[in-house]
Amino acid sequence: MTTSDEADLLARVPDGVFIGGRWRAAENGRTLQVTDPATGEVIKEVADASAADGAAAMDAACAAFPSWSRTPARERAELLRRAFDLVQERAEDLALLMTLEMGKPLAESRGEVTYGGEFLRWFSEEAVRVQGRYGVNPEGSGRMIVTKHPVGPCYLITPWNFPLAMATRKIAPALAAGCTVVVKPAALTPLTTSFFTQILVDAGLPDGVVNVITTSESGPVSEPIIADRRLRKLSFTGSTAVGQQLLKQAAPGVLRTSMELGGNAPFVVFEDADLDKAVDGAMLAKFRNIGQACTAANRFIVHRDVAEEFTRRVTERVQSFTTGRGTEDGVTIGPLIDDRAVDKADALVSDAVERGAEVRTGARTVDGPGSFYEATVLSDVQPGSDILREEIFGPVLAIVSFADEDEAVRIANDTEFGLVSYVFTRDLARGQRMIDRLETGMMGLNVGVVSNAAAPFGGWKLSGIGREGGFEGIGEYLETKYTLTPDPFG
Ligand code: NAD
Repeated sequence: MTTSDEADLLARVPDGVFIGGRWRAAENGRTLQVTDPATGEVIKEVADASAADGAAAMDAACAAFPSWSRTPARERAELLRRAFDLVQERAEDLALLMTLEMGKPLAESRGEVTYGGEFLRWFSEEAVRVQGRYGVNPEGSGRMIVTKHPVGPCYLITPWNFPLAMATRKIAPALAAGCTVVVKPAALTPLTTSFFTQILVDAGLPDGVVNVITTSESGPVSEPIIADRRLRKLSFTGSTAVGQQLLKQAAPGVLRTSMELGGNAPFVVFEDADLDKAVDGAMLAKFRNIGQACTAANRFIVHRDVAEEFTRRVTERVQSFTTGRGTEDGVTIGPLIDDRAVDKADALVSDAVERGAEVRTGARTVDGPGSFYEATVLSDVQPGSDILREEIFGPVLAIVSFADEDEAVRIANDTEFGLVSYVFTRDLARGQRMIDRLETGMMGLNVGVVSNAAAPFGGWKLSGIGREGGFEGIGEYLETKYTLTPDPFG
């Protein structure tokens, strides 16, 4: 049951699509239902956009581009900075909304408000630092001028697991660069994006610069937008399978693409690691967001001399967790996003156990209502188990052991993915060797969380293309032009 505070907040969330500066119903009048995964109850209905709404959103983004791209960078920066301040003011609303539609415990939602808000502040600072260069060509016969330009209208597709941060991580650099956007949040969690869009409006967003379409028909609504030759950029965060389809759709238009895709992060604990730090790091890397993060540690690769001690300590910690609705005090593990996610975690655990893994704790679904899976520790997971190959996306900590550094590296790199790795060792030279040897776009060296608005976030291999955040993030929304002029003395 939603409380009266929750009902009051939900009533304040816009329920339309947002096109050309106006909230309105979907053209065909349809709505989609949003569910609280902790109770299974429908908490709100919002517009269920069709391809016609998508086309209208594209028209609005294209119409707004000429003036937004010429708006002084300082003005664009100040809009983002005001939005950052409003996110701080409305932090509790944003946090509760994320817990209601996605399920993570409130403390974690508050953490996401901080993280997600930082992209607004960071890119408000970066907006005024876009620079080109000027130089003499090597022959001395001309002057080379390099300038940067916003790429044009962009289509931004976000997943359900970090409803605020995945939106701000794309919208903030796009706006900072002078681009206009159409945003499509996941159908499971559209409310946070709509609430945040109203924050942008309150901060002074000009009409058409950001357009939002909530829809249950991702494919049919997205395809014509991607095929529209006025679109210049596609930025997607989600599963590798969908990313691969979108790359095919983006090919005819030779679109600039950013792809933040799936992961299969190794978490390597060497025999010389500080085990207290490794266990703390493991809790964050594995159980943050109930294991539903692309950066979640998927495979714990632990030296055989410390494997039993590490397993004992993580099991003890996991047994102290409290599972429940994320709004309740003391809850550390919320629900998974839906019953399909529970079934997937359960199937991966069953396969691992059939192949010889030992259950140290958990490995049980929890009776409804809500989509819960008990936090689980598996040891002695055998090679060939599905859980070592697939993204778990749930609260299951799977441990394998190794004998020496070469074996650890071989196991860690034995995946098509390459988003992030975690390494725990006290040996500086070994840590540096791992930076060179592990095939991932990011690494936590003696830490369990790497995300930061100031850092280039992104993956190698099937984990993606491009970077979000950091100095690199705004570059994804800029084109480069080189101009040659004759030697002015010639
Ligand atoms: P998903 O691929 O199912 O959906 C992501 C988004 O794409 C949603 O908005 C969805 O509606 C949309 N979508 C689905 N099919 C589409 C289609 N045919 N055309 C256009 N849009 C379509 O992923 P998900 O389950 O929402 O998110 C979980 C996945 O996202 C995991 O694999 C996770 O690793 C990944 N992820 C990656 C990062 C990263 O930065 N690398 C961050 C968060 C999540």
